[in-house]
Amino acid sequence: MDVMTFEGIVMVKLSKRQEAEAMRIHGEALVVDTHCDTLMEFMPQRYGQPSARKLGQRSDKGHLDLPRMKEGGVDCQTFAMYTGRREGQPDALLTAMQMTDIFYREMEENEEGIVPVTSVREILAAKEVGKCSGLLSIEGGEPLMGDLGVLRNFYKLGVRMLSFTWNWRTPFADGQAASRTESKLTDLGVKAIEEMDRLGMVLDTSHLSDTCFWDIADVKKGPFIASHSNSRVICDHKRNLTDDMLQALTDHGGVTGMNFAPDFISKDGATVEKLVDHIDYIVKRIGPDHVGLGSDFDGIGTPPVGLEDASKMPNITRELVRRGYAEEDIKKILGGNHLRVLGQVLK
Ligand SMILES: [Zn+2]
Repeated sequence: MDVMTFEGIVMVKLSKRQEAEAMRIHGEALVVDTHCDTLMEFMPQRYGQPSARKLGQRSDKGHLDLPRMKEGGVDCQTFAMYTGRREGQPDALLTAMQMTDIFYREMEENEEGIVPVTSVREILAAKEVGKCSGLLSIEGGEPLMGDLGVLRNFYKLGVRMLSFTWNWRTPFADGQAASRTESKLTDLGVKAIEEMDRLGMVLDTSHLSDTCFWDIADVKKGPFIASHSNSRVICDHKRNLTDDMLQALTDHGGVTGMNFAPDFISKDGATVEKLVDHIDYIVKRIGPDHVGLGSDFDGIGTPPVGLEDASKMPNITRELVRRGYAEEDIKKILGGNHLRVLGQVLK
C-alpha cells in the first residue's frame, strides 16, 4: 500500500465532523512520546562528519525535529541517549556525556520553542505557554559503568528515565540478546532500582530479557514503564510484551509506549491502522489507562505508512476517532497515561 492510497483512505473514512473532532482533541491533548533516538543525529562526531541535522531545522531526513514536533502536536518528547555497545564502557560514558551536552545545547538554541524538563509541573508549564518539552533518558546502562555514583551524577544532569539494558548484558540486568534461561536482575540492579525510587527516576523495561522483566515486576514497588514496546500477541516479536507482562505492568500502574518499528507492528507491512490495532488490543485487555506512545523515531528503519515522521502523529488520533474511542480515552493514550506515571515518579 503506498502513501497516497493510504492518505486517501484516511480522508475518506473521516467525515468532516470527525476530522474537526480529531484535530481539536489532538490539539488539546498533552501528547507525550517516551522514546526517540534523535540525539544521535545531532552528534557532530557521527561518522566523522559534521552533524547533518539540527533540532530547530526541519529536515527531510529521519523522523523528528522541533518543526515536525510542532506540526505533529508532540508536546513532550523523551530524548534517549543510546550508547549501546558490549565493550568499551568508558567510551559509552564519554558518548553519554557528549549526548547530554548536545541535548542542552540544542535546547538552548531553540529555547523559544522547547525547554528541557525534569518534572510534570515543568511539562505542563511549557504546554501552557505553547512550548514543547524535552525529557532526557538513558537507553542501556552501559554509560553507568556499574556505579551508582554515576547514576546519581546523571540524575543531577537531568536524566529522569533509564533502561538497564539495550539488547546486551550490563552490570544491572540482561537484555533480549543476552538472555539465558537463568538470566537475572543482578544485586546491583536491585540496588539501582532502590536508588532510582529514592531519587525519582522512571524505570524503563523495554529491551530487557523476559526473565529480567519478571524480576523487576517482583522487586519493583510502584509504576514502571516499557517506553517503546507493543503487544506480542498482535505481533510476535521478543521486544513486544506478552499478555502476562501487560498485566504485570498494569498491576504496577505502569504504561507501555507504542513503538512504530515496522517489525514490532506487523509481519506484513506496517501502517498507522496496524499500530492502532495494538492499542485496540491492549485497551480491550487491560483498559485505556496503560498504553501510550513511544515512537522510537530515528531509531527505526522505514516508518509505518501514515506515520512517516513526527508531523504525522495526528493520524493516530484520526484513527482512534474513526474507531469511536471516547475523547477522554484518546487523551489518556496520547499522553495522559505517561503523564500519570511521570507525576507519580518524578519529584
Ligand atoms: Zn530501543
